[in-house]
Amino acid sequence: MTATGIERITVVTLFPQMVTTVAEHGVVGRAIADGAIKLACENPRDFATDKHRTVDDRPFGGGPGMVMQFAPVVGAIRAARESGPEGARTVLLSPQGERFSHQKAVALGRQAHLILVAGRYEGLDERIVEAEIDEELSLGDFVLSGGELAAMAVVDSVVRLLPGTLGHSDSAVEDSFAEGLLDHPHYTRPASVDGREVPAVLQSGDHAAIASWRRQQRLGRTWLRRPDLLATMSLSEEDQALLEAFRASRDDG
Ligand code: SAM
Repeated sequence: MTATGIERITVVTLFPQMVTTVAEHGVVGRAIADGAIKLACENPRDFATDKHRTVDDRPFGGGPGMVMQFAPVVGAIRAARESGPEGARTVLLSPQGERFSHQKAVALGRQAHLILVAGRYEGLDERIVEAEIDEELSLGDFVLSGGELAAMAVVDSVVRLLPGTLGHSDSAVEDSFAEGLLDHPHYTRPASVDGREVPAVLQSGDHAAIASWRRQQRLGRTWLRRPDLLATMSLSEEDQALLEAFRASRDDG
C-alpha cells in the first residue's frame, strides 16, 4: 500500500527551521526537490499582534509552564488552509493522541493537504483543538518538548510512501508493517565477516528459495517480536507451514 493524492504538507510551528531540515536530505528531500510534494511552514509568531510577537501566556488556574494562545495559532492554521487545496486535514501532534502507525501514514497520504500542528510549552489552549483540529496523533507514550520531531516523523513516513519516491518500486511494500508483518533481516557484502556468515540460501541464486526464506523470516520475526500483529492476520496455509517450520527450528536449536 502506498500513499497517493497528497500535494502539500504545511507544518504550523514556532521553529520552521527544524522542520525544513527533512526537506534537505534523503528520499524525502529528493521528493520535495522534484516537486512530488510541497512542504511549507506557518509560524504562529507571524500572527501575533503585540510588539513582542507573543504566542504564549500563563495558564488559567495557575500552575507551571506556559500555554500557546488561541489567536496566533489559529491565524497560522487558517493561513495554512488558505495556502493549499480545499479540504485540508488538520492534525495536532500530541502525546494524548492516537498512536501513529503505517496505516495512519497511508491514510494521511490520501489527503490533498495535510496540516500538522506542532505544540510547544504545556501545549495549546484547548479551544484551538475544539475549533480547528480534526485528529490528534502521538508518536508514543513519552513526552517531547515540542511537536516538531513528531511532525517530521509524520512527514517522512508519508512522503516515502509516495509512488516513485523510493528508488526500488517494491521497497515500501516489503517494509515492516506494510503487509502487517515485520521486515526480514538484510545482509550485504562481505559474505563472511568477524566469523559471521550470510545465510547460504541468500547466495544460492535460487529466487524461489530466497523469497520463501524471506517470507519465513518475516513471519517468524513477527511471531517472536510482535505477536499482536500476527493475531490480527489470517495466514494462508503456505504461511502457516512456513511459520510452523520456523518455530520447529527454534525448538530444535
Ligand atoms: N502538557 C502536555 C501533556 O502532558 O500532554 C505535553 C506538552 S509537550 C511538553 C509540548 C508539545 O510536544 C505538545 O503540545 C505536542 O505537540 C508535542 N509532543 C510531546 N510529546 C509528544 C508525543 N509523544 N507525540 C507527539 N507529539 C508530542
